[in-house]
Amino acid sequence: MFTRLPLVLTLAATLAAVHAGPVSAQTPAQALPQPSATPAAVPAWLDGYRDTAGRLIGAAMVDQFAWRRLATLTDGIGNRLSGSPELTRAIDWALAEMKRDGLENVHLEPVMVPHWVRGRESLAIVEPAPHQVVMLGLGDSIGTPQGGVQAEAIVVRSFDELDAAASRVKGRIVVFNVPFTTYDETRPYRSEGPSRAARHGAVATLVRSVGPAGLRLPHTGGLNYAANTPKIPAAAITSEDAERLQRMADRGDRIVLTLQMEAHFEADAPSANVVGEIRGREKPDELVVIGGHIDSWDVGAGASDDGGGIVATWEALRLIKSLGLRPRRTLRVVLWTNEENGDRGGEAYRDAHRAELAKHVMMLEADSGLFRPVSFAITGNDMTRDTVRAIASLLTNIEVDTVTPGGGGTDIGPSVTAGHIPAMSYEGTGDYFLLHHTPADTVDKIEPVDVSRAAAAIAVMSYIIADLPQRLGTSAE
Ligand SMILES: [Zn+2]
Repeated sequence: MFTRLPLVLTLAATLAAVHAGPVSAQTPAQALPQPSATPAAVPAWLDGYRDTAGRLIGAAMVDQFAWRRLATLTDGIGNRLSGSPELTRAIDWALAEMKRDGLENVHLEPVMVPHWVRGRESLAIVEPAPHQVVMLGLGDSIGTPQGGVQAEAIVVRSFDELDAAASRVKGRIVVFNVPFTTYDETRPYRSEGPSRAARHGAVATLVRSVGPAGLRLPHTGGLNYAANTPKIPAAAITSEDAERLQRMADRGDRIVLTLQMEAHFEADAPSANVVGEIRGREKPDELVVIGGHIDSWDVGAGASDDGGGIVATWEALRLIKSLGLRPRRTLRVVLWTNEENGDRGGEAYRDAHRAELAKHVMMLEADSGLFRPVSFAITGNDMTRDTVRAIASLLTNIEVDTVTPGGGGTDIGPSVTAGHIPAMSYEGTGDYFLLHHTPADTVDKIEPVDVSRAAAAIAVMSYIIADLPQRLGTSAE
């Protein structure tokens, strides 16, 4: 109860701040603002890009085209799980729309993807008192036998508690009640928890959703079954239901649960990465690649994860094209398939483009939301970081001038690793994990200005990197 309300207020406050406009610096009346210190070394080439950056930012910020495109995708097609007809529709739509935008070399790159189907599912507390429990099966989980699983529950707060209770786990449903801290820290309970419980003889696993406490919102997401461990059905429950089960356990109640899941895999299905380009005017074989993933989980509408990311990166190319700009190198947008439960799109891209990975100057992924505050993250050498910081200084007035280490993404990962390519990400985490993999991931949570800002920032960053006389990460001589 202490965490729930403030988080909702955080979302409201974020939205309110957005309505105040993109530049909402509040300077106390008594203190006149000091001109900010000039960065230690502004490279000579930067001034030549100020006008172009201004035009790109202007074109993005006066228009809500990208947000409307995101609404069209998420309302008109909906969520896009690998193997679903909706994902195929989204891919065909994106292909046609990229052609309409006038992008070049627009095509699909086919790849087979896993086809997991949720089916019907339900969870109830039978003892000590009847309660329906809000749940979502975890992605890639097996189903229960027909008629479901009925068993006594054991509630633990950590892997250590599970191991300490090992002798009491056999034949039971293990409930992991672990509050969300960070995604990386809490996610192992979802991904590894089922097999950790199965190793001690559990018959099913329930995982407190990996996300801040919401209003009884379950978060799905993928699990990873360990090799040579029995596979058991696994589902996410809400923080409210996890805490209720915890209270029952703390009182010493015998807790009996009934879980039914029809989840199963069908045969792999055809899918594709969607690719569009603006060919480089001088070095067309050198590439700057940006994008996100077009697939999503099968709940909500995949608006933040990752509709926003694909629309914003795609919009960057549309803006550059619409202003008649053509950078020295080729700019390529890729909408990868199957990020959520397989990464087959990212792997297929690496394999199809292996011969030109050495010509990839930079890859950028946008898959962390578009919510303020936003930043760019970069993994690369010192010169790469300096160049990215210098370009980001052109984005101060739209508040995208923060650059942090640690750029990367699931879709670009295979190529980045194989080709030792500088990796960037657009980070707009804000309330992302409140909505992540939930039925609430819908376009109404995303402000048009945030999509425009992302498109503007990514357009400026990727255009300049593609146009610089020197290759990113090498000296300007
Ligand atoms: Zn994602």
